[in-house]
Formats: sequence, structure tokens, C-alpha cells
Amino acid sequence: MSSLDTLQHLLDANRESAIVVDSARRIVAANEAALAVFARPGISIRGRRLSEVIRDLQLHEAFSRALDDGLSSEVKMDFIGSGRRSFDIYVSPVNLDGKIHAVGVFYDVTQVERLEKIRQEFLSNISHELRTPLTSIMAFVETLEDGAIDDKDNNRRFLGVIRRNAERMHDLIADILELSLIESGNVSIETKQVRLKNLVDEVFTALSSKAGEREIKLVNEIDASAKAIADPVRLEQMLTNLIDNAIKFNRLGGSVTLTAVGSDEKTSISVTDTGEGILPDHLPRVFERFYRADRGRTREVGGTGLGLAIVKHLARLHGGEVSVTSTPSQGTIFTIDLPV
Ligand code: ADP
Repeated sequence: MSSLDTLQHLLDANRESAIVVDSARRIVAANEAALAVFARPGISIRGRRLSEVIRDLQLHEAFSRALDDGLSSEVKMDFIGSGRRSFDIYVSPVNLDGKIHAVGVFYDVTQVERLEKIRQEFLSNISHELRTPLTSIMAFVETLEDGAIDDKDNNRRFLGVIRRNAERMHDLIADILELSLIESGNVSIETKQVRLKNLVDEVFTALSSKAGEREIKLVNEIDASAKAIADPVRLEQMLTNLIDNAIKFNRLGGSVTLTAVGSDEKTSISVTDTGEGILPDHLPRVFERFYRADRGRTREVGGTGLGLAIVKHLARLHGGEVSVTSTPSQGTIFTIDLPV
């Protein structure tokens, strides 16, 4: 067996893409992983010049360093094939059967970079969301210290603002902790048969004063016999989030209606409101963390932007899904599907 054959076997055992070129920059070996990324269907890349297969100046310079100077090096490259992929590439010289060659190993870092970006965005969102109420708290404390504490007409009002902002920070931190607990896979659910009408009545009772403040009618149209297989605590949490939103984003004097339909495969529970609705542009994004269709308005009504992300994760933990349809200025329907 020649050195090249031995190398080919070694490369084939590797999950990362690897390509070997000779001193004329022709590809003499490539493993399956490399073919999957760089070869077009039905066209072999063996025997072709590296520059025909991958056009990237830095990559070619790295191969030249290996072939001409006998030096190893590391480069980064984005490659657009069937989607955009990012690679960290290590290129080294290798002597095969007495002739100089260069081998490049391509580490696919697309997923790692994507996750890193999500993590950074999450952190910067958290910092921003916490800073806003904190700034307000600090400003009002300072105002009180500067003399407003003796201002009988306003001091209680200022304390009220401080309290509301502290509560907001508290809610945010609670939601962030909850979400990261669920996402880390450390939340388990214990499912059993749940009577839906009763559960919804309990959620309605808990939210009745909030609904009353905005004169929203809460309507439970679920059949007394309707059941779902779910973790009752988690289902209550999901419905509380959805009904709370349906109250918050409703019009004064509107209504929130709960319905349930069952089939052989699933039970679908819907929360229908008569609110402002969600524009089609925003609709696919409302389940993202910290996403708010209308930032100003949602701050005003006290949202964290995490509620729907939590609902989505909890629905999936049940093997189910949550979806939304909306007609702007008429209302929104959120539906939780749970497998039976
Ligand atoms: P928030 O804490 O802001 O309510 P959510 O994750 O629960 O966060 O919701 C994300 C965004 O989706 C909200 O800020 C709002 O813009 C929009 N939204 C959620 N529910 C409704 C609804 N029933 N009607 C209109 N908009 C809604």
C-alpha cells in the first residue's frame, strides 16, 4: 500500500473534511466528509486543481506555505455550497512516497459560531433589559436623597416608581432563570390526565383582577369533560402566560376566550383575544427570547419578552407545539397542541 493509500484510509476515518494536494496544487485525495461539502453531485474533485474546487486566496496561500516553505499554518474560510459554512483550516506539509504534498483539515465551526452569536446576543439583551429599570431606580433614589424625601406631595410616588422598577428586575431575573433551567434540560415533566375546564377556571381566577382593571371578559368555553395529558403545573404556567398576554394586549372591554378540541392524536387548546393583533412581519418571531412586536408599548404593560419563549419550550417538553395566527386590529389566537 502506498503512503497515499494509507493517508486516504486515515482521512476516511475522520469526520472532519480533509484534502491532500500535490506540488502542482492538484487534489490527490479527499475524504467522504470533504466530498460531501466541496464536490458537486456526480463530479469528482480528485485530480482537479484546488483553485477550481475552492476559491479562497488565504487558503491557497496556506497550501503554498506548506508546499513551498514546508510550513504549517491555520486559516479561516467561509464556503458557500448548499448553505454557508465556516471553517477553521489547518494546512501542513506531508511527505508521501518521497514527494512533498500538503494536507488541509477543515474543522466545521458553523454551528459553534452560531451558538456563540446567540449566547452573546442573549447576554447583551439581558444586560440591556436589566440596565433600563436599574437606571431608573438609581435616578429616583438620587432625587430622594437630594431633598425630594421631604417633598410630601411626591416622595411616595417616587418610592412607587422605584418599587415598580425593582419588581420588573425581579420578574426579568425569574424568567431568565426559568428559561435557562428549561433550556439546560434540567426540568422534567410529570404528565397525567388533566381536566382542562377546571384548570382554566383556576387561571382565570388568578388573573381576574388584572382582567377587571381593563374590563376584559374571560370566557371559558371548554367542555366539562375535556381532558389533556400534561404536567398540570406546567400547563397552568403556559396558559397563565398566554392568557396574561391576551389580557395585556387586548383592547379595553375586550374578551379572552378559551376553547379545546380533541382528536385521536392531539388535544388543542386555544386562547383567542380581541386585541390589537400582531403584524405578519412580527408573527414568526414572537417566540424568540426578548422579542417584542412593539417595544415601547410592551414595556408600558410590563412584559419581559421571555414569556412566549418559555411557553414554546414547555410545549416541546410535552412533545407538543405552540402556534399563533393573528388578524391585526381584530385579535390573536395562540394554540397549544399536546399529544394524547
Ligand atoms: P412579553 O413579556 O413582552 O409579553 P412575550 O414573550 O410573552 O413577552 O411576548 C412577546 C411579544 O409578542 C409581546 O411583547 C407582544 O409584542 C407580542 N404578543 C404576545 N402575545 C400577544 C397577543 N395576545 N396579542 C398581541 N401581541 C402579543
